[in-house]
Parts: sequence; C-alpha cells; structure tokens
Amino acid sequence: MTQPVSRALAPFGTTIFTIMSRRAQERGAINLSQGFPDFEGPEFVKDAAREAIRGQHNQYAPMPGVPALRAAIADRFSRSSGLPCDPDTDVTVTAGCTEAIAASVLGLLNPGDEIVLFEPFYDSYRACVAMAGAAPRVVSLVPSGGSPRAFAFDPAELHAAITPRTRALLLNTPHNPTGKVFARAELERIADCCLRHDLVAITDEVYERLTFDPALPHLHLAALPGMADRTITLSSIGKTFSLTGWKIGWAVAPPRLTAAVRAAHQFLTFAVATPLQHAAAEALRREQEYVPMLLADYRARLGELAPALTSVGFRVIPPAGTYFLMADHSAFGFEDDLAFCNHLIDEVGVAAIPPSVFYQRPELGRSLVRFAFCKKPETIRTGIERLRRLSAAPRG
Ligand code: GLN
Repeated sequence: MTQPVSRALAPFGTTIFTIMSRRAQERGAINLSQGFPDFEGPEFVKDAAREAIRGQHNQYAPMPGVPALRAAIADRFSRSSGLPCDPDTDVTVTAGCTEAIAASVLGLLNPGDEIVLFEPFYDSYRACVAMAGAAPRVVSLVPSGGSPRAFAFDPAELHAAITPRTRALLLNTPHNPTGKVFARAELERIADCCLRHDLVAITDEVYERLTFDPALPHLHLAALPGMADRTITLSSIGKTFSLTGWKIGWAVAPPRLTAAVRAAHQFLTFAVATPLQHAAAEALRREQEYVPMLLADYRARLGELAPALTSVGFRVIPPAGTYFLMADHSAFGFEDDLAFCNHLIDEVGVAAIPPSVFYQRPELGRSLVRFAFCKKPETIRTGIERLRRLSAAPRG
C-alpha cells in the first residue's frame, strides 16, 4: 500500500507537543514542555458554561459565531486597538486560534503563492501553508545580545524574502517560543513592508495579555497606519483564561478579508461549541476579574524559574511575553537540543521542548531549550529541584 498520509502533510509527522507530553507522562517527568496550565481556569467562566448547557444553548451556533461572543470580541478589540470593529462583518469565531490560522491561510492563498514566516515558528504554520499548496519565505529571529529584545530579525532579510509571488505575512506577537514581544519600530518595519508589497498580514496574538516588560507592551499590527484594511488579527481565550482545552478562538478582519476566513471556516468546522461560546462571552466581559491576578502569578513564576535556571548553568533569554522561556543549554555539553531534551526527560525527570523543530534551519535552534512556566508553583519548584541535578555533572 502506498503511503496513506498526503504528500503535503507527511513531512510534518507528529507534533512535538504530543510527543513530549506523552513521554513526560510515561516517564513521570515534570512537564514543562507543552504549554498548557496544570491548574484550573476561573470558576465564573466554568459556571457560565454549565449555565449555557442547562439553558439549552446546545445546537449549532451561527457559522460566524454566537452574536454575544462576537459583540464581546469586537468591543474588546476596539478598546485595545482604537479601531472600529463590526461584530457582524468583521468577527469570526473559530475552533481555537489554530483553526483561525488554518482558515486564514486556506481562505487566502492559492497554490504557488508565498507567505512570509518568522522562524522559530509555531509548528502549525508551516503545515497550514503546505495544505494550501503555498510556500513559506522564512525570516530568522536570532539571539542578539542580552536585552529583552534579544531575538531580532534583520530588516534586509525581510526585504529579501519578498518576491512577486508573496501574498501574505504571518506574525506572532508575543512570540512563541522565544517570548519576544515585537517593538513598535519592528512592527513599523513590517507594516511598511506589507504596504509596499501589498501583503495581507495575519497576526497570531494569543499571548496578547501575557506581557511582563512595561517597555514592551503588546501592540496590534492592525492599529499601525494603513494596516487595518489588510490585517487579520487572531486570538483566543485559551491562554488568557487558562482554558486551552476549550478551543475558542477568533479572527478579526475587514469584511473583504473576513470573507476569505469564513470561506474556509464554513467547511473546516462550520461552527464552534455553542455553550462554550456563551461562556467565552462572559469571560471577555469580566476579563479584569481574572487576568491581572494571572499575570502577577506568571510574573512570580518567571521570577523563580529564570534565576534558578541561570544558577544551574543555563543562559536564560528573558521573555518579554508569553508563558515560555528560552535558554541556552550549551554549558552542559550536549550535541544538540534533541539530545539535551532526551537526557532531561530520561535522566533528570523534566520535559522541555527542543526548539529546533520550529526552524526551517534547525541549526539555529540547536543550542536552545524551551521551558513552559504556565504551571503550578509546586510543579515549577519540583522541576527546578530536578534540574539542579544537571549542574552536578556538566559535560565537555
Ligand atoms: N501552544 C502550545 C505550546 O506551544 C501547544 C499547543 C498544542 O499542543 N498544539 O506549547
């Protein structure tokens, strides 16, 4: 029998998140790999979901999303971006941001089109581009000194990535896995590029509320001059409300681009879990009751993990946002990130992500390791205790 997986998808194998979480479970390792909270989301949101189920919100939602949720998304987006947003024509509710990415890419691109991605990139990006028959044009974010803007791109590389076939650019800020928050000057360069080459920007902003550096607030690319008409802004409730399993995300875009997103969304999932959409609307309306506390907790956990890693021998690249931290493991003498992560999980009892899987040029990620700190304080502490075993026997 011939290979059953399609040519487009066969190269991507099984996602690293599935692999590492499964191995963490098998080995009884502390799981600092896959980014999901090991604590519960807010009770008022869970109550709202129970209420919605009891209140008979259990049949298909309208294809673009439940009106109450679209209204809450439009209102929140308008407040944070300063842009007008019409819930009927500009908002589409999707099965997490992952579906919003897929719907944007599949709804916009034709076979042979090109899209700019920044590496390291979240692993679904390249797979979605392949499903569309399009080609990635990759710009590298490389460590550059010890500042919070440690990962930076070369504007000349961005310029060189664009050809007459390039139709879109996909940006993730705050950025997984680096923790980078794109600064205004960087977004201006990206906007300039989109305007000059007539590109559509797709922005994955799922970590928009998780930023730690007052000098680097989260900014919407859509809010830069000229960009509102050509940007699809994506987000979700998963990270903001510690409910990653709910898979409620959305796309905000002007009607012309919303038409492309919905063209795909209607055939990918058609509509998303109705009661959870009602609860997500409640979550967004009462965001302030939860998010400041979550942010303070994450800041404290980062404040514990980062210096502990440094004292063990890692070179930490401080994140300005997300709930991930990248560190350089070179001091321990392993061949690459895969060898290091295998040792961590098998001998140290901690699971982490080898970031080379997020690169088109894997060598750029070889000396790095990604730790997630969206975990209970005791999980992080146990992880740190185990990681101290590393310092006892540095290699090479
Ligand atoms: N976004 C999460 C991470 O980066 C993983 C999501 C998933 O498992 N698909 O760890």
